[in-house]
Parts: sequence; structure tokens; C-alpha cells
Amino acid sequence: MNTIITSIDKDNIDNEKIDIHANILRNGGTVIFPTETVYGLGANALDEEATKKIFKAKGRPSDNPLIVHIADKNDVYKLAKNVNESAKIIMDKFWPGPITIILQKSDILPATTTAGLDTVAIRMPSHPIALRLIERANVPVAAPSANISGRPSPTQESHVLEEMNKKVEGIILGGDCSVGIESTVIDITNETPVILRPGKITYEDLLEAFLQVDIDPAILEKNENIVPRSPGMKYTHYSPKADVYIVKGEENKVIEKINKLILENKDKKIGVMCLEKNAHKYNAQVISLGKDINDVARNLFKTLREMDKRKIDIVYSESFDTKGLGQAVMNRLNKAAGYKIIHV
Ligand code: AMP
Ligand code: MG
Repeated sequence: MNTIITSIDKDNIDNEKIDIHANILRNGGTVIFPTETVYGLGANALDEEATKKIFKAKGRPSDNPLIVHIADKNDVYKLAKNVNESAKIIMDKFWPGPITIILQKSDILPATTTAGLDTVAIRMPSHPIALRLIERANVPVAAPSANISGRPSPTQESHVLEEMNKKVEGIILGGDCSVGIESTVIDITNETPVILRPGKITYEDLLEAFLQVDIDPAILEKNENIVPRSPGMKYTHYSPKADVYIVKGEENKVIEKINKLILENKDKKIGVMCLEKNAHKYNAQVISLGKDINDVARNLFKTLREMDKRKIDIVYSESFDTKGLGQAVMNRLNKAAGYKIIHV
């Protein structure tokens, strides 16, 4: 497949360039575009054949529903039934932004978009290129992360080009994604909102808007008996080729343990992921995830990809506090590690 690749400056958007891709979407094609969370692989959410192309390009299981992206809050009323008070609160307080709401679906959506569920996931992103593209395509855009299923989500132009060129009709290159992990997903079909996937809008942020917020237990621990309510959360995710281990405990003990493991595995290529302040303390290839939890979120997926590029056999990662954004970071890191945690 020939892929039209266009670089667009998010601070000075050229509508002629946007329209090339808006037309592809309107004509049933697929376009990869930047959002503030990760790059998305989009198609017209109302067009069954177009949405099938998303699953094909990603190798995504057909029972994993898509998030529908909009550029106008009023479109929620077309895509969903029973738009309740909770929906209005999230739209007012957090949209446009990195949070997705689950509502009862309306009849205009094909079963492919929602993977046969009677609910729909909707988000209004804040990235100016995403907003302009959706606005000018003038259709709701179903868009999961633009990676091959199971791989880390793409947060930089090179990730998209390396993995998805020739698999889609259009690619918009618009620089790095500022958040770096996928949106918070919150089910608001019942009285108490339930977080199905943690993200940049945190549990603590949501408690400022709601009296009570529940968290799907599947987020907090790996337990064969708990089936996640967000179908996508049950799949292996973010897997680099390297074997990833999280080392958890008091900071000095973690550093000591990782250095011991490095010595014990001298025949292997070892990579360490850590906070910048600890980067000089390890005797292996070290990639700093940054100064704080925002940096860690932004850099996590690109670092996992970088470990693969360097052909690292084993990655040891520091662990992070699950307060605030840390919950989303640890959710992704736990999955990348296949829940292999070394306690010290
Ligand atoms: P992705 O866009 O790749 O981040 O995947 C979208 C995520 O949203 C997946 O984890 C889906 O399971 C979840 N999702 C989409 N629609 C629904 C829905 N109707 N109910 C629950 N989770 C959903
Ligand atoms: Mg994804």
C-alpha cells in the first residue's frame, strides 16, 4: 500500500496538508495522527469497512473495541444514548484532554467499532492536529494506538514510520506526544464512575469532580480470576523483546540489588531504566526515564523500544509510587514486565 506521509507543524497548521488526510478518512481510508497521549491509527467510526482496516493494520483482536475521537462535544449526543450528569462533568472539566468515557452506544455505530458491545468509548483529544483533522474530516474517528498489537504504543514519529509505513493510507508526523501513555478510560454508565484504565487524568483528579470513584480491580493486580471490564486490558501489552523485571523496595536496596543482578548476569546484555538522579549508580547500559513521574510517563514506551534497538536481553527497572500518575505508569510497566517483580 502506498502511504502518503505529511509533516505538519502543530503550532502553525496548514489546512491544505490536513485536508489530504481528512479526505482519506472521509473516503474510508486509514490515517495515523498525533494526539497528546500517543499516536492514533484512525478511520471513520461510522464506516464498518473502514474500521475493519484498523484491526487488519494492527493485527488487533476483533473483540477489542476502539475509542471514537471527536472534535465537538455535541457529537457525544449522536454517538451515545443516556448522556448523563457524569458525562457532562467530564466534558466540562477534562475535555479536550486525555480521558475517554464509556456510555451506552447509539444505533449509528457499526458493531466493528464497539466490538459488538452495547457501549461506546468516546474522547475529545486536545492535540491541535488531531482536533483539526477530525473537524475537517467531519466524521467521528475511531482510533486505537498506532502500534502493531502487543507492542509499546508509539509516542514519536520514528516509531510510527518504523512500524506502520505501507500499512495505512496516510501518516501525519507532528512531533513527540506530550503525555506519552494512553488516555484514562472511565465507565460512567452506572451511578459510580469506574476507572477501567488509569492514565494522565488520575484517580485523585477525578475525586475532585465526583464524590466516589471506583477502580476496576484488574488494574491493581494480576489475578487470573478477575476479568478486566475493558477488553483491551486483558491482552499482553507493551512487550519489548527483552525480558523486563521491576525491582521494588527501598531505594538504596533497589540499586544494590540491580547491581548484584548485573554482576550475576555478565553473559547477558543488561539495560537499566531509572530516575535521572540514579542513572550514574548502575554498572550497565542505563536509560534515564527523566526527573519526575511526568517524564517517566512520557519516556516509558520510547525507552522500551530503545532497549529493543540496542538488543538488550534483560531490562531491570526501578519501581514508582502508585500515587497520581504513578498508577498509570506502574500499570503499563507491570504489563511490559509480565508482572515479574523482584521485591527487596
Ligand atoms: P487503545 O486505543 O489501543 O488504547 O485501546 C482502546 C482501549 O479502550 C482498550 O483498552 C479497549 O478495551 C477500551 N475500550 C474501548 N471501548 C470500550 C468499551 N465500550 N468498554 C470498555 N472498554 C473499552
Ligand atoms: Mg493500544
